[in-house]
Amino acid sequence: MRTILIMLLLAACGPMTPYDRGIEVTDAIGVLNQSKALFSAQIAVEDHYGVRLGDMHTDAVVYWTDTKCPKNGQYAVIYRGTCVYGRMWSLDEIYVALSNKDPERTCGSALIHEFGHAMYMEMFDRDGNAAHDDDEFWDVLVAPMQLACDRGW
Ligand SMILES: [Zn+2]
Repeated sequence: MRTILIMLLLAACGPMTPYDRGIEVTDAIGVLNQSKALFSAQIAVEDHYGVRLGDMHTDAVVYWTDTKCPKNGQYAVIYRGTCVYGRMWSLDEIYVALSNKDPERTCGSALIHEFGHAMYMEMFDRDGNAAHDDDEFWDVLVAPMQLACDRGW
């Protein structure tokens, strides 16, 4: 009986699958330069704050969705009927819609933004506060987003 209880608790705490979340993703989709974009974002944050975030850019589990929002036909992460560009619950669960500018690239996607949330949580707030109001932090991510577009990532 004790074993069963522990297993249930572990299941409740562990990362959920897209299916558990009610999000449709296609496993076959990968965006070629995802790792370069994540790496550039991590370096920008590390340099700005003088921290080391380890392997976050390689440990991130990103699910790209190829679903389109029924309202406007744009790529979107559809979560409980709401269309958004990205959502994240943890480093293990980052959901990003394909870029409406170019589905094969990270440019114009929510990838760096959502990864930003994961880095922010790692550095400042493990409770998962979205912290969109921390302008200093979000300003740091502007350059890597631009870099992804300039380099055709
Ligand atoms: Zn956000």
